[in-house]
Amino acid sequence: MAEELNPFKIAQEQLDKAAAVMGLDKQAHAILREPRRTIIVNIPVRMRDGRVQTFTGFRVQYNDARGPAKGGIRFHPAENIDTVKALSAWMTWKCSLADIPFGGGKGGVICDPKKFNPAELEALSRGYIRALAKFIGPDVDVPAPDVYTTPQIMAWMMDEYSTIVGHNSFGVITGKPVEVWGSEGRMDSTALGGMFVMREAAKAMKINLKKAKIAVQGFGNAGMFAYTLSKKMFGSNVVAISDSQGGVYDPDGLDLAKLELAKKTGGTVDKYKSKNAEKITNEELLELDVDILIPAAIENQITNANADKVKAKLVLELANGPVTPEADEILHEKKILDMPDFLVNSGGVIGSYFEWAQNQTNIYWKTPEFQAKLDEIITKSFKDTMDLRASYASKGKKIAPRTAAYIIAVDRVAKAMKARGWY
Ligand code: NAD
Repeated sequence: MAEELNPFKIAQEQLDKAAAVMGLDKQAHAILREPRRTIIVNIPVRMRDGRVQTFTGFRVQYNDARGPAKGGIRFHPAENIDTVKALSAWMTWKCSLADIPFGGGKGGVICDPKKFNPAELEALSRGYIRALAKFIGPDVDVPAPDVYTTPQIMAWMMDEYSTIVGHNSFGVITGKPVEVWGSEGRMDSTALGGMFVMREAAKAMKINLKKAKIAVQGFGNAGMFAYTLSKKMFGSNVVAISDSQGGVYDPDGLDLAKLELAKKTGGTVDKYKSKNAEKITNEELLELDVDILIPAAIENQITNANADKVKAKLVLELANGPVTPEADEILHEKKILDMPDFLVNSGGVIGSYFEWAQNQTNIYWKTPEFQAKLDEIITKSFKDTMDLRASYASKGKKIAPRTAAYIIAVDRVAKAMKARGWY
């Protein structure tokens, strides 16, 4: 049967599952099932032909009990309020699990940025901030880039907000270019965080990363850096990679120069040429006989239709929401260790936290300091998750890493709400 794939319903279902296992207080559960604040705005933009076009924008502040709301802004034609709500909930759990002083938020604008010229893109970005300026700020809600938004867009948004409040406010937004106090090390921090989780999970499962075969779905910011870093840090053998058009499998391991050439000449990685390389589909990539599978593209890739065909021992969810709740159960039953997205890809928001902390103190760090602190925080999140899982197992209750991570994250937010007298 086809699964219900409304992202906000999935987010609520995941919370309900964790709440039942941990015995969450009913009042706290009711607060946490819905966002605290949902803002919908209309943004008029003068287009190149002189006419004004109006775009719908969203900002959802899911929960701020532990600190300012934190989360990206997407510019996408298929953006909708349920996706934004779900992503803002997941940001809440992600920041809480990482134990950084933020709540969760997310934003988006329904638009097709590929059709804009730079002036229109700038006008929309500034218009979004004008519509929302009263509701954001370094101590209130701190946005960041996400799908189809860039460091340049973050710089325009920071500039607009600074103009409105009458002083420089670099800490209002993260993911900025380094020229306006973005952070060194932020570029590949999502994948690097994922690599630290992979190192720890491999240790726990006695997988030798030097010999491990890895398949990566997606060749964007997350997937491309996962590919280069797993080779650079561990000497692993990445045997398959894909993009939206399809993928390539080479049992001898893929070569970065050849991958880049395939992208440059054919536009897609499936144009990769090598003696033993063969074209594969995205579906086939997920079912390869590898040690580690890294979904790093889009949501709902491993579902109840293909989860029983996954052969990897370890799944690292670098993308957001690549495994559906029913698939999650199937992987758990098959004893495949599935490390959840809000742990594996938290390096991005941890990097954003570092950028914000530097902006707030005006003290700036170099990349090695950034990376060492990222390692410390994400390794602790991994250990917290596995320790809680082991403590449930010792009481005869087997739970998946996602449930353990949820319990930690929800418990921290519930405790903060309790201390503040919200219930
Ligand atoms: P991106 O746009 O840079 O890359 C996405 C990649 O996925 C591209 O290679 C694209 O071709 C591929 N893709 C698109 N549709 C596909 C399909 N149907 N099948 C297979 N591949 C497909 O995006 P990104 O920044 O790398 O983000 C990827 C995932 O990681 C998303 O889920 C995102 O939310 C998550 N994530 C990214 C960051 C970050 O810092 N970049 C942080 C946290 C989470």
